[in-house]
Amino acid sequence: MQRIYLDNNSTTRPAPEVVEAMAPWMHERHANPSSPHPAGEASADAIRAARGQVASLLNCSPSEVCFTSGASESIATAFASAQATAPEARRKLIVSHAEHSAVKYNAQRAEEEGWDLAVIGVDEEGQLDRERLLSEIDSSCAFVSLILANNETGVLSDLQGVGEACRSAGASLHVDAVQAPGKMELDVGNLDCDFLSLSAHKFHGPAGVGILYVRSGQTFRPLIVGGPQEDQRRAGTENVAAVVGLGVAAQLAHTRSLDTTSLASMELLRDTLEQRLLASLPGSRANGAGSLRVPSTSNLYLGGLEAAYVLAVIGQDGVDASAGSACNATSTAPSPVLMAMGRNEAQASGSLRFSLSAHTTAEEIDRTGDIVIAAVQALRSL
Ligand code: PLP
Repeated sequence: MQRIYLDNNSTTRPAPEVVEAMAPWMHERHANPSSPHPAGEASADAIRAARGQVASLLNCSPSEVCFTSGASESIATAFASAQATAPEARRKLIVSHAEHSAVKYNAQRAEEEGWDLAVIGVDEEGQLDRERLLSEIDSSCAFVSLILANNETGVLSDLQGVGEACRSAGASLHVDAVQAPGKMELDVGNLDCDFLSLSAHKFHGPAGVGILYVRSGQTFRPLIVGGPQEDQRRAGTENVAAVVGLGVAAQLAHTRSLDTTSLASMELLRDTLEQRLLASLPGSRANGAGSLRVPSTSNLYLGGLEAAYVLAVIGQDGVDASAGSACNATSTAPSPVLMAMGRNEAQASGSLRFSLSAHTTAEEIDRTGDIVIAAVQALRSL
C-alpha cells in the first residue's frame, strides 16, 4: 500500500508541472543567463518570466523579487541588511517566541553582537502579544521579523497595523511567509512589509531556491557580493532550472490560494482528522486550534505519549508525519514554540504535527485516523 505523506510543512513533492518545466534547463538549455549570446538570452528570459510569476503571487513588482538559495538565506540577508544599514542610534531588533530557527538564530547572533533583542511572547493559542509588540516598536528599533503562518501549529500571526507602526517608528519589517503560499492569499501591500521570505520546496517547487522580496526604495545591503546578478542584490550564477521551477510553483500556488473551494476541502480534511483523533483519544488536545490557522496544519498532543514513539509506530504502518519543526527533528529538546504557548515539557514532547497538501485525499485521512488511533492505543496498553 502507498505511504501517506503528511509532512508537507517540512517539504512538499515537486508538482509534475514544475519538474516538466525544469527538465529542459537541465539538459540542452544550460546557458549562463549573463552570457551575451542567444542561448544566454533565453536563460535570462526564463528567469524574467519566473520573476513575473513570483510577482503575481506576492502582488508586487518583478523588480522587487530577488532569487536566493532558499528562505534561510533570504532571512539571513534581511537581518544582515537591516543591521548593516541601521543608524548608530537604532540598536533594537524584535522577533517573537513563535519564530522558526532560521529567524531565531539570526536574532540570537545579533544579540551576541551587542544588539538589543526584544522577544515577543505568544498566548496559549499561539497569538502574538500585540500590545507588547506595538509598544516595543519605537525610535530605537531597527528591524522587526515575524512569522506569518507558524510551521508547527499553522497559527496565523495578526500583523494588522504592524507595518504601519514600523514605518512611523522608522524600523523595517520582515515577514517569514514560508508556510503561506498555496494556503492563503499573499499580498505584500496588505502585509505592509519591507522584506518577505519564501522557499520553493514548501509549495511544490524544488529545494535550494527561494525568494527575498525587497520593497522598492528599501535601503539594502547584499549578504553575498560578487557578480551583478539579481540587480546587485545577490551575487552568483543563477540556477536557471530551479528558478524556472520556482516560477511555475509560484503560479500554481497563486491559483490554489484563490481557489476557496479547494482551500475549504483541505481544511475539512484537516478538521476531520483532528476531530476524529480528539474524540477517540482521551486526554488529547489540538495546539493552536483556537486561533486562525492555515488549512493544512494540525498539531496534536496525544495525551501522555512521547511523539517520537508514536511517529515510529505510525511510520512503520505507512504514515509519515513529524513532531514540530523538521529543523529540530534531531534535537531531543521539546518544541520551544509549544513551550512558549505554555505547554509543559511532557505536553510539548508529546505533540505531533500532521501537515496536508492540496494532494491529500479523504481516503488517506481516513486511513491515517485508523493507524494513529491503533498506534496510540497499542502504546498506551504497554
Ligand atoms: N521559516 C519557516 C516558517 C520554515 O518553516 C522554514 C523551513 O522549515 C524556514 C523558514 C527555512 O526554510 P529553508 O529550510 O527552506 O531555508
